[in-house]
Amino acid sequence: MKIAVLGAGAMGSLYGGLLAESGNEVWLLDIWKEHVDRINEKGLRIEGITGDRIIKNIKAATDHAQIGTADLLIVFVKSTVTDMAVKNARPVIGSNTVILTLQNGLGNVEKIEKVAGKGRVLAGVTSHGSTLIGPGHIIHAGQGDTYIGETDGSITGRLEKVVDMLNSAGIKCSPADNISSLIWSKLIVNVGINALTAITGLKNGQIIEYEGTSDILELAVSEAVKVARARGIKLQYEDPVAHVKDVCRLTAQNKASMLQDVLNKRRTEIDMINGAVVREGEKEGIPTPVNRVLTGLVSVIQETYDVRD
Ligand code: NAD
Repeated sequence: MKIAVLGAGAMGSLYGGLLAESGNEVWLLDIWKEHVDRINEKGLRIEGITGDRIIKNIKAATDHAQIGTADLLIVFVKSTVTDMAVKNARPVIGSNTVILTLQNGLGNVEKIEKVAGKGRVLAGVTSHGSTLIGPGHIIHAGQGDTYIGETDGSITGRLEKVVDMLNSAGIKCSPADNISSLIWSKLIVNVGINALTAITGLKNGQIIEYEGTSDILELAVSEAVKVARARGIKLQYEDPVAHVKDVCRLTAQNKASMLQDVLNKRRTEIDMINGAVVREGEKEGIPTPVNRVLTGLVSVIQETYDVRD
């Protein structure tokens, strides 16, 4: 299968690397020229829980037009640039190309469908964790389940094919019949953890050790749960606050991606996480003041990277 991965950062390189190792033709598409050149010259280095090796049978490109159409396009840019990146990737999207997104945040499916058309997108969530170290080099930091599904919940042949391909690459994957539930269930974890770590500089485990941050986590999660329920979303866990706190404990030493973005002065996914809860809350008539404050604070932090000492 010819696979293109749009956004070959931490996660795109991980999925692309594992799929290439299992014998697929994989193209990594990225705007970062140094990274692309390093992969083409020296291969992709993956370190971490699945071992340290260099994958050579993988190709990378900044010019999407050079690779032709793909059977599968996996979107792994940050959700801040989904629309623009998918528009630029049009040359890769043929009439039969299946598009898969495992990005965090709300709205990615809709943005991709706007460019590629309805019925083209598979979506889901992954518990794998990866960190980009430098050009051509990532660390596979954690592994867990991946669930993917059709937007209408049907179990189709193309869904089963992609699930089989991911499993053959060592990415444990199952088909799902309710991607909204999966996406919201993961969103709510990110709602509780990401912004708080980005604002305080604390690691995941630390935010539940202090009353101030633990209280805010509970309030932010509870608001998001009300919005999810108003939209008829059934979550994957019974007690959302307890679940998010469990995730904090299990990932106690992690610096959440939003904290890493702030430390590296990069744009965060705040608008697609806490900001999305605020927007969806407005549509449902549900107040979300805590998520509004978290969104406002992270937005100001990222807008003022250049004017602070
Ligand atoms: P990342 O920042 O490491 O990688 C994004 C890549 O996209 C970068 O290499 C960047 O150069 C590239 N890019 C930016 N604009 C582009 C464009 N227009 N066209 C092509 N490439 C472009 O991000 P990541 O950590 O891999 O996260 C990707 C998505 O996966 C996010 O939604 C994130 O929340 C989600 N996610 C991340 C993890 C993780 O452990 N890192 C885990 C689960 C989900």
